[in-house]
Amino acid sequence: MLDYPDVVSQLHEEFLRAGSDVAVALTYYAHREKLRVVGRENDLEKINRQAVCLARRAAEKYEALVAGNICNTWAYKPDDPKAAKEVRRQYAEQVGWAADEGVDFILAETIEYVGEALIALEVIKSFDLPAVINFGPIYEKSKDGYNWVEACKILADNGADVVGYNCARGPETLLPLGRKLRRAVGSTIALVPVPYHTDHDAPSFQFLKRRGADSAYTLGLDQHYIDRIEAAEFAVEAQRLGVGFIGLCCGAGPHHIRAMAEALGRKPVASQYSPDMSRHGLLGSEKVVKAHEKQFLGQWK
Ligand SMILES: [Zn+2]
Repeated sequence: MLDYPDVVSQLHEEFLRAGSDVAVALTYYAHREKLRVVGRENDLEKINRQAVCLARRAAEKYEALVAGNICNTWAYKPDDPKAAKEVRRQYAEQVGWAADEGVDFILAETIEYVGEALIALEVIKSFDLPAVINFGPIYEKSKDGYNWVEACKILADNGADVVGYNCARGPETLLPLGRKLRRAVGSTIALVPVPYHTDHDAPSFQFLKRRGADSAYTLGLDQHYIDRIEAAEFAVEAQRLGVGFIGLCCGAGPHHIRAMAEALGRKPVASQYSPDMSRHGLLGSEKVVKAHEKQFLGQWK
């Protein structure tokens, strides 16, 4: 964020060109607790302001929305007023900087406690901003004992504009949660899975195994990637369910997002460069194949 801001801007543009409607400021884990652990607490404000500023500039260019971003703090403990106060302080400074730099809404992500999510919501609303509150459903229940539908319902009842889930689960194990949630709440819901093949045995990517090792999380996840076709299928199914906030989380590439946008009937800027397989030398239409067959087969022999 501070060393190579141009590269971050380019990343925003890449995803916006691929069809994303939102530029999310890269302030995930840019909270006091985490930056203290990596010895960068003094850069906290600079990083947050810069992140929102870069996201906003990219969003303006593509007429997209810009979201401020907060997440689980690591400081929360249930029934501990001191911890709650610390979480509130950390959220208030991040949301404050985001509001100051100019955002359309705040996205609170991968929260695992209903109690912590309620603090996030309260802080976002104190700045008069719309709140999207997404839980990270790694396990079957929240860390304070609520099932995930119940957890979202509490947040919706308390005024969250959008409630749902992000991260942890891939499409296969997140969609069933989305189906239940759609029936339970009337407000807009969000599904933002990770782009990996999670299943019954490993419902979250934290439990995926890497060939020859105990765990694939996080550096060995590549062998579990979903492809762009599966990403598009997820988007269509989510829309059919009535999900209003659709995305992909950690590990998603612009090619996934473009395929999703196109499957939902959009024509993003980057569609100009979508592969047209009918023009592929060997896999395309008969005419094109005939014209190139001799040349290609000659090379490969
Ligand atoms: Zn994620």
